[in-house]
Amino acid sequence: MEHGFIAWAKQRAARLPNVQLGIGDDCALLAPTGEDIVVTTDSLCDGTHFVLSECGPKAVGHKLVSVNLSDLASMAAEPIAVFLSLCLPRHHSGEIGAEIFEGVCESCERHRVAIAGGDTNVWDGPLVVHMTAIGKAPVGGCWLRSGASVGDAIVVTGKLGGSIRGKHLTFEPRLSLAKKLHALGIVRGSTDISDGLGIDLLNMTVASKCGAEVDLDRIPISDDAITLSESTGRPPLEHAIGDGEDFELLLAVSRDRLEELPSQIDGVPLTTIGTFVSRTGLWSKTRSGIAQMQPKGYVHG
Ligand SMILES: [Mg+2]
Repeated sequence: MEHGFIAWAKQRAARLPNVQLGIGDDCALLAPTGEDIVVTTDSLCDGTHFVLSECGPKAVGHKLVSVNLSDLASMAAEPIAVFLSLCLPRHHSGEIGAEIFEGVCESCERHRVAIAGGDTNVWDGPLVVHMTAIGKAPVGGCWLRSGASVGDAIVVTGKLGGSIRGKHLTFEPRLSLAKKLHALGIVRGSTDISDGLGIDLLNMTVASKCGAEVDLDRIPISDDAITLSESTGRPPLEHAIGDGEDFELLLAVSRDRLEELPSQIDGVPLTTIGTFVSRTGLWSKTRSGIAQMQPKGYVHG
């Protein structure tokens, strides 16, 4: 990493008590917390996860933090620190690097997360950004995607579909919602919706060794999905099931404690859309009966 950039980054990044030693040495030192440590990593590539010429570098920094924190939220973990690595395109590396870092700083300050280290490289390819986020497990343990049991309710946060219209860059990772919901002790398993409701639900059923029956009429459809359907000609419901990057939470809630589920937290609706069942696979339930459901999720090229 270039020396002036490190000095600036070190001064710019917030200092927080969980990090004994942050940017500037060969490694960071994190203070032990007594809880399990939760680690996740994500990469974003220009042309696949964002279009740099349209959104600008700062939005890339925001999104990079948010996708990592969304993974921590899906396990009800609390973020401690992030590590940032940049592969910058050679022709305008200087201003892009600083602006991405500024976006990362803004998001980290908002979520009280330290930037504890990183690396920058310059190459002849497009912009590629990487982040590793460290969190601590909540008291009582993390939610796992393998935690769903037959009979549990399938619950989603927010509204789904059409995030390509902008939400994929500006979404709010559900950290605070997850923390409040975890305290109720009614959730048994969780994942975040990154590849699309259908695919992520299928992944959750495979991990939990069960199936899922979804009441299609109850899937919360976003306004963006409705607007998008006007140009794609595909039904809004298909966007809600198949579009990626909603970054909402998909939860398994104990059926016998479902009445304790709030209808919303922090203004974000919580909607029961079905039930985990013993018959493996995805099943849709409509007035005309039960049929196999296609995941139709977005797969990153
Ligand atoms: Mg995830």
